[in-house]
Amino acid sequence: MDHFAEIDLEDCPCCGGVGSIEEEGGWCLYIQCVDCGARTAELSYQNEAERQEAARRAAMNWNLRKVISPGPGE
Ligand SMILES: [Zn+2]
Repeated sequence: MDHFAEIDLEDCPCCGGVGSIEEEGGWCLYIQCVDCGARTAELSYQNEAERQEAARRAAMNWNLRKVISPGPGE
C-alpha cells in the first residue's frame, strides 16, 4: 500500500488515542482511532490524486474532531 503524503493526525478527540488511516475496498478511506474505534465519515475516491485528497480531508475532519463515536454494541 502506498503511503500518504504529509498527513498530520491529532490525538483521538474521544480518548486521546492514536488515529490511523483505514482504507476499505480500494475506493474509500477514513480515519479511525486504534483504541476506541471513533472514526470519521468515509470519503470515496477514484484515483490516486483523489485518494490523497480524501486522506487530507479525512485528516482535517479528524483534527476538527468531526468524528463518529462508537456506540455501545456497535
Ligand atoms: Zn479514541
